[in-house]
Amino acid sequence: MYTNIVICGGALAGMTLALSLQSKGFNIVIIDPRETKEVIEQDKRTTAIAAGPRRFYHDLGVWQKLNKKIEAINSISILDGSSSISLDFDYRDFTDENSDVDINSLGHVVENSDLIKQINLKINKNKNLGQVKRFKSKVLDIKVDKFLAKVFLENNKQISADLIIAADGKNSLTRKIIGIKENRSTYDQEAYVTQILHEKNHDNIALEKFLPGGPLAVLPMKKINNSYRSAIVWSDNRKISRSRLAASKSKPEEMSYELERHCFDWLGKIKLYGSSAVFPLELITPKKLVSDRFVLMGDAAHSIHPIAGQGFNLALRGMKTFSNMCGDRAELGLDIGSIKFLKEYEKLRKIDVLGLINATHGLNELFRNSKPHVKLFRRAGLSLVDKSPIIKKAFMKYAMGI
Ligand SMILES: Cc1cc2nc3c(=O)[nH]c(=O)nc-3n(C[C@H](O)[C@H](O)[C@H](O)COP(=O)(O)OP(=O)(O)OC[C@H]3O[C@@H](n4cnc5c(N)ncnc54)[C@H](O)[C@@H]3O)c2cc1C
Repeated sequence: MYTNIVICGGALAGMTLALSLQSKGFNIVIIDPRETKEVIEQDKRTTAIAAGPRRFYHDLGVWQKLNKKIEAINSISILDGSSSISLDFDYRDFTDENSDVDINSLGHVVENSDLIKQINLKINKNKNLGQVKRFKSKVLDIKVDKFLAKVFLENNKQISADLIIAADGKNSLTRKIIGIKENRSTYDQEAYVTQILHEKNHDNIALEKFLPGGPLAVLPMKKINNSYRSAIVWSDNRKISRSRLAASKSKPEEMSYELERHCFDWLGKIKLYGSSAVFPLELITPKKLVSDRFVLMGDAAHSIHPIAGQGFNLALRGMKTFSNMCGDRAELGLDIGSIKFLKEYEKLRKIDVLGLINATHGLNELFRNSKPHVKLFRRAGLSLVDKSPIIKKAFMKYAMGI
């Protein structure tokens, strides 16, 4: 069987790419051991999509369908442990005459499952633009020659394509098969994620509280069954995160109390909602993003700390650039798998990727450090940024991805 593009991995990154490349007229085969339905049921994460990358989903016709599911983040409040110093960002303080993005929030919170569901519906609607097939299997091997690449699947099928996209997650097997090495450093942290219902309105505020073990993020979500709702992403050392996960089932009232304690009285009474999960956190940076007829996307291209909620936003910027470049190239009848072309893409993405990796890594290290002089310097820094509209604007621009 032949197709234009094989995408290995059909979760958030793989599905987004399939839709955007389909809209450019490509025929695509997605390979994933899970059906779309299983991905939707199993991905318990929420993602904060920044104002800039949101436009990509809008242009693909997905964002408009999520109106009833998404909640805006109007402001972010950053707290350093128990210190009374806070740093607040509000989109209403942001003005930029040169920006072509309509700024009506800092970003939006969406459940991954809702986003994937809408992407899938859109792919099915766009059948006239390009064919997207999904095979429930695993990629076991890849062979690349001068004019084509071939993937070998667990179900004994083989598919030839001009280009293979690896969107098979942070431990990408296809990256390994192709021989792209990576740098890895573990944070010794896991992120505990859950949802909460609460008595008082979140007022579209996202809270990021830096605690000695790692950051606690409380993100505003759409009301459910008439109750206020927020998402929790709480990074801490592995043992503590695992004990929080266990307590969510055995002693949910203790977890609710801990969250109330960290939120002071902001949200009032808190109750855990839905299921909880933990995610190991590692910084994984492959030494290159491309090889002959092969490109890394999503977490396969970079896995970073969720501290600033930027990992997938970074991936979206890459996907948008890549889809546009592929579309332009195909219009000229040129090969989308040529290494010269893929290297052009890699060169364009390098600064954004390295910049964000260094920023999130540095932020996590800075806020985990409890040495008195570092704490003093950090709090002075927060206070300084809070008082400087110019620095604040630069930070907001970065957070919004514009
Ligand atoms: C706790 C947490 C919170 C986060 N919050 C944010 C946020 O607020 N904002 C943000 O921008 N980012 C956030 N992120 C990052 C974001 O969740 C990820 O970047 C994104 O979900 C990665 O999607 P992916 O499709 O690349 O990978 P995955 O979701 O890992 O999917 C990989 C897919 O590949 C398939 N697969 C695996 N092996 C094979 C194989 N051999 N062959 C075929 N298929 C295979 C798997 O079945 C799976 O479906 C967060 C991450 C975490 C852990």
